[in-house]
Amino acid sequence: MRDNNKISVFENAKKQLESAVLHTKVSDNVKKIIFNPAEIIEVSIPVKMDSGKIEIFYGYRVHYNDARGPYKGGIRYHPEVSIEEVIALAFWMTFKCAVVNIPYGGAKGGVIVDPKKLSAGELERLSRGYIDAVKNFIGPDIDIPAPDVYTNSTIMGWMADEYGRLTGKYTPAVITGKPLSIGGSLGRGDATSMGGLYVLSEAVKTLRLDPKKLTVAVQGFGNAGYNIAKLMHQEGYNIVAVSDSSGGIYCMDGLEPGRIFDMKEKTGRVDSAALKDIKKITNKELLELKVDILVPSALENQITKENVNNIKAKIVLELANGPTTPDADKILNNKGILVIPDILANAGGVTVSYFEWVQNRMGYYWSIDKVQSRLKSIMISAFNDVYSCCKEYNVDMRTAAYIVALKRISGAIEARINV
Ligand code: NAD
Repeated sequence: MRDNNKISVFENAKKQLESAVLHTKVSDNVKKIIFNPAEIIEVSIPVKMDSGKIEIFYGYRVHYNDARGPYKGGIRYHPEVSIEEVIALAFWMTFKCAVVNIPYGGAKGGVIVDPKKLSAGELERLSRGYIDAVKNFIGPDIDIPAPDVYTNSTIMGWMADEYGRLTGKYTPAVITGKPLSIGGSLGRGDATSMGGLYVLSEAVKTLRLDPKKLTVAVQGFGNAGYNIAKLMHQEGYNIVAVSDSSGGIYCMDGLEPGRIFDMKEKTGRVDSAALKDIKKITNKELLELKVDILVPSALENQITKENVNNIKAKIVLELANGPTTPDADKILNNKGILVIPDILANAGGVTVSYFEWVQNRMGYYWSIDKVQSRLKSIMISAFNDVYSCCKEYNVDMRTAAYIVALKRISGAIEARINV
């Protein structure tokens, strides 16, 4: 699947913005700023392996733009992390924070590593090493990292602790997605999916559809994919297919995400749940299933010009960042498929990360009801802003989301510097 990553992610990300630029009066000077990352930090991280030997891992932190507030973005661990991918992810963070109107810029980090091959001790030393390497570029008012693919709350806990050791004081607001016991927020675990569900529900209402009559395929079964499958199942949607990096499963009568999760916990893969009525499928087959809603929740470049003509879903909810290439996006739009774009669909995660940061700075923690009602209100207003923009400019939802974000970012740039 990652062969598709040869498609240039940052070039594609910029193409998404270019269509929005055509509809706005952004000056050439502002354009130059927003089409380029502000800072790129490349580090090497020496880690003592269990064997006693030192191994060097390579990592990045990209600061894309901070016109609207401190840089914000997750850290990805993956063997195919590249600087280009991290820049694209930082770019999307900048626009995502602006779509939901939270006071952050955009950043992202990544380490080239297959975490499945490390012991827990090696993973901890690598995570602490990453913070040692980027300590001068992060901070609660500078840049606030968070989890992404193959990083989680345990890793955020080690990182927050390491930053505290290096600076001589525990500063929980330096990182979000932490365990609850050290300043995490209630509701952060499933925030990305919860936010996705709120915007999807608005779209489903607008299209006058009944969730109980809709079938769903979810690609990826981690934080984003498992939680959206679970939440949609609770809302009555029929989850007929799920997958992870090893493959997928399909059942026409519906799957129970909780049971699949338990199975994956035991065996490490979702397709071990293939039983009599549950058929094994590939990731490629999952994307092309005849379902009403497709939820890509894994990696970039999944819906491309190679497979777009086989996509049969009526709605694509992009919980992953960058799952659709621009050429495929055009074809989906021409086919009348509603694409709820990543910078809107998956913004619930950074929104609750923002709540976590606010709570850390206040030293006052909110109930789950408060977190979820505030998340809901932000996601619904973002959906309404984007949807009104679609109508005003007669554009698809992705272009509309970029127009909304671009106006906010360019407004901030113009307010800060004389461009
Ligand atoms: P995760 O590490 O929790 O899960 C990743 C999942 O993708 C795993 O189930 C893995 O098996 C699967 N996967 C990996 N390679 C795959 C492949 N080749 N085919 C199919 N599945 C594959 O990561 P996550 O946090 O759920 O992130 C998933 C996506 O959501 C990423 O694009 C990420 O940037 C995006 N996202 C996550 C958050 C968040 O808060 N976690 C927020 C916004 C966006």
